[in-house]
Amino acid sequence: MDNEKNPNPGELLRHLPPVEAVLQSGTATALLPETGPTHLTELARRAIERLRAEILKGQAENLTRADLLKKAEGQLEHLWRRERKKSLRRVINATGVIIHTNLGRAPLSESARQALVDRAAGYCSLEYDLETGQRGRRGGRAENLLAELTGAGDALIVNNCAAAAILVLTALGRGGEAIVSRGELVEIGGDFRVPDVMEQSGAVLREVGTTNRTKIRDYEQAITPETRLLVKVHPSNYRIVGFTATPTVAELAELAHRRDVLFYEDAGSGALFDLSDYGLRDEPLIGRSVAEGADVITFSGDKLLGGAQAGLIVGRSEVIGRLRAHPLYRALRASKLIYAVLETTLEEFRRGTHLENIPVLKMLAMTSAELARRTGEFADRLREKLPENSDLQFEVIDGSSVIGGGSAPLVQPPTHLLSIRHRRLPVNELEKNLRLADPPVAARILDDRLLLDLRTVAESEETLIIYHLSLII
Ligand SMILES: *Cc1c(COP(=O)(O)O)cnc(C)c1O
Repeated sequence: MDNEKNPNPGELLRHLPPVEAVLQSGTATALLPETGPTHLTELARRAIERLRAEILKGQAENLTRADLLKKAEGQLEHLWRRERKKSLRRVINATGVIIHTNLGRAPLSESARQALVDRAAGYCSLEYDLETGQRGRRGGRAENLLAELTGAGDALIVNNCAAAAILVLTALGRGGEAIVSRGELVEIGGDFRVPDVMEQSGAVLREVGTTNRTKIRDYEQAITPETRLLVKVHPSNYRIVGFTATPTVAELAELAHRRDVLFYEDAGSGALFDLSDYGLRDEPLIGRSVAEGADVITFSGDKLLGGAQAGLIVGRSEVIGRLRAHPLYRALRASKLIYAVLETTLEEFRRGTHLENIPVLKMLAMTSAELARRTGEFADRLREKLPENSDLQFEVIDGSSVIGGGSAPLVQPPTHLLSIRHRRLPVNELEKNLRLADPPVAARILDDRLLLDLRTVAESEETLIIYHLSLII
């Protein structure tokens, strides 16, 4: 009876395997250590449900009980694989966007990766002074390095730059007014809007000047006994060109101190050293802002600094002390993993090895000639790997990379791109092929071409991309 073929859906439904049978199958037994028993039962239920739906749609005819069990096992495996694909996965970034927000911004340096595992993954001296055996200061060394590298009196690290801005504005501005130029009321990254952050903090936003021109006099005239802060926000992803004016950091600091208020700069990405050799001329230099008298400056840990997501705050000791003592700091403080990454990243800067060892800076400094050589060699290796009659066509063309992460929107470092076309597959299919590969490869589409920019690809990843491309026939 069991092996009887069954054309009738009603009959077939009665032959669906029970959950118990699916759970006892070889497939389920193999998956159990990964899924755990509760989730495996849930997946088995869903597998049977899908099978039931197939039968009702008439898509499963002439099947025996054994066939149905096999199909349920197949569904079970499919459901688990699909779920696994949704987990956080490593991606090869061939888009040429250096600080790619959707791909996790800055990739970590080798030393930072090592430090995560060796220093911070287990128990560590997070708040423990090994010399005295007493409680130590959290984030101490990373914060000391930050202060040293920027010339600031002290430093403090929180979860991200948005958190840093909220902490500064709340601790220093709440209950009073903060003066900002109308040209700097920007939105960064879709969810960081200066007026909204200001409202959250409880500081009253006092707008001055116009969209394109704001003068030091505008700030001066707006100062009242309620004023707590003058604020300068770096309009990271946005530029006003033409007839423009903004006071310098030095002018704003001088005014703030003369009128007994504080000056806060949100530098956004911020640069620890001069990046103008690489085309980045208007990213605020943190050390310069400190030297010119800014009382407190915030910037991101995973933009041009090339570390992990963090909000870095540097400034005068007394001001940083107020931030550290504020109850909000407890909610926004960083984790041991972040300190480990930042400490090692900042050590690269101090040693002067940042251009070789911090991926974001290495990619930024990569010359067009070097990219021409790498892309040419990549094309040669791909040509060797493809069969004679391959439908994949490609050439090396000139193009430009992107800084990304809401930094330096006008800077487009020249690069060389591998431009790929397939005789039969449309470009979106080509793109999907690479995206669904393991590890996935993210690329750029331009018209009917797929573009690969090796600037953001590690040399060790090139072989994997060539392999994925060679499988597209
Ligand atoms: C990027 C940026 C932020 C937000 O930084 P996160 O680290 O993403 O929170 C805030 N202000 C400016 C000026 C920025 O450029």
